[in-house]
Amino acid sequence: MAATAKTAEHTLEKETELRFEAQAEHVKLRLLSGTAEIFGTELVKDRDYTFVLTHVAVFTWSGARVSLSGSFVGSYTAKETPMLSYLNTHAAIDRRRQQAAVENQRGPRVMIVGPPNVGKSTLAKMLASYAARTGRRPLYIDLDVGEGAAAIPGAFTAVSIDRPVDVESGFLSFNPVCYHYGDVEIGKSFRHFCAVVDKLAQIAQQRANKDAVIRSSGHIINTCDMNKEAMMYVHKTFEADIIVVIDNERLHNELSEATKEATVVKLFKSGGVVPRDQAARDQARIGQVKRYYYGAPGGDLKLNPYSFPVSFEHVKIYRVGAPQVPAACLPTGTDPHAHETQIVPVQPSPDLLHKCLTVSPATENWAAEGGSLIDSQGIGFVSIQNVDMATRQFTILAPAPYPLPSRPCILMLSGQSFSDAGS
Ligand code: ADP
Ligand code: MG
Repeated sequence: MAATAKTAEHTLEKETELRFEAQAEHVKLRLLSGTAEIFGTELVKDRDYTFVLTHVAVFTWSGARVSLSGSFVGSYTAKETPMLSYLNTHAAIDRRRQQAAVENQRGPRVMIVGPPNVGKSTLAKMLASYAARTGRRPLYIDLDVGEGAAAIPGAFTAVSIDRPVDVESGFLSFNPVCYHYGDVEIGKSFRHFCAVVDKLAQIAQQRANKDAVIRSSGHIINTCDMNKEAMMYVHKTFEADIIVVIDNERLHNELSEATKEATVVKLFKSGGVVPRDQAARDQARIGQVKRYYYGAPGGDLKLNPYSFPVSFEHVKIYRVGAPQVPAACLPTGTDPHAHETQIVPVQPSPDLLHKCLTVSPATENWAAEGGSLIDSQGIGFVSIQNVDMATRQFTILAPAPYPLPSRPCILMLSGQSFSDAGS
């Protein structure tokens, strides 16, 4: 749909939602009067919010007037939304937090599941912001590896929610704990997925043990497209006691039967959720990496990445996962899934052009030190902007200035590509 630059004012009745799509040009939104929120975070009056390449819904509980300017498409006001049921879900979760706070117990651990494109990430964000607005501090566990909302796609993260999620920068302004995964889908390596889930659950437990407010606030666990085995693994490992299923009656029934340890709740998908094809997903992923380096356009988080040459000798690159060997070819007694978590060295080559990599804090002797690379947290992400085989140098785009944190620096292939051209 073609967009033309325009300015429009909208009067929103109570409990309605203005939906629009911001394309490549900036769209500015301003709250003129009343109160309104975007995915759970309240808007400040008379402030411009800027959006690029995203779908937005401005919801009001009590009525509002907003203006929209720039190049946006498909704006309309929806009267039917599931927002009341989402708010009620927050209220029910919050009652458990309140009780947990009084009894100094651990709070509710909520897990959100469902098919792709039903608004899981949006609801998870909303519940996190509502929790912050109620003074809670849940841990947000982001297992939506294809979105990588607090880092880049290909990473699993955990953040401590101490304020509503930023309308423009999302989770990027939080300080996440990151684990490298190396793919934007969890299908290929269940073992690696389980290893990362274990690590995140340990960290979440440590944080909860140290801080009573974090403990009683519980967790909000966002998931992605995963099979039931993976869902059950997350449920068991995090001891999730509330599972919210969006838009899938059958999954709701199956999970209700599969677990007695959790309350399984069914919610409807919002009519505003936009189905995304592969091209739209790829574009969203590239947009996420760009925001990681540059900050969100218009957001408070202004960043400037650094670009510098790095000699091939000063990095060691690995990927997780070796090709599968047919079971018949493996020696008897060999674990048929061992290849999934195998650490494989990657030689410098032009194939690495535009690849994103996780910077690992591990040392060159990681193998001798007995640890596994996949157990260590990622400390940042870089991407390769040029490979010069003649001078044996990469040009690297990094969020911090030269040099890389160690020499040789251990980097792991993240499964995402990013070209800085045109930034
Ligand atoms: P999932 O996590 O289930 O794949 P998302 O929460 O990422 O789904 O939602 C898919 C897309 O729909 C996102 O671009 C999101 O911004 C958009 N979206 C979600 N809810 C609404 C809404 N009420 N109005 C407009 N767009 C929405
Ligand atoms: Mg999602």
